[in-house]
Amino acid sequence: MAGEPQADCLFCKIVAGEVPATVVRETDTTVAFRDINPQAPSHVLVIPKAHHRDAAALAAEAPETVADLLREAGRVAADERIDETGYRVVFNTGSGAGQTVFHAHAHVLGGRGLAWPPG
Ligand code: IMP
Repeated sequence: MAGEPQADCLFCKIVAGEVPATVVRETDTTVAFRDINPQAPSHVLVIPKAHHRDAAALAAEAPETVADLLREAGRVAADERIDETGYRVVFNTGSGAGQTVFHAHAHVLGGRGLAWPPG
């Protein structure tokens, strides 16, 4: 069922505390933790606690949580002090776009110049 924890999902295991992560923020509906393979000086993932496959599924299945996720992304940026220089919020959606973990997550990246278009 949409939103239920998945036994084989890495990010569900992080939410459950079964896999360690460097958590920087947590709310009733979201967790933010440092990416294990950072692509910028600040690279934090913000995820819904409930399991949704990707950003599109999250928007369809729990639209109110999308607002929670984006609010938390902004708070992470402020905590990381990248809000004034600029930062990027990325939802890789589908393997062709680089999604490797199929539990919706926002990448919050900053602390260096970010080129456009992205690779
Ligand atoms: P995606 O490629 O957009 O799906 O992003 C998945 C992200 O999860 C990648 O940037 C990985 O480096 C990151 N990642 C994978 N395993 C872990 C972990 O155990 N802790 C924190 N980040 C992880």
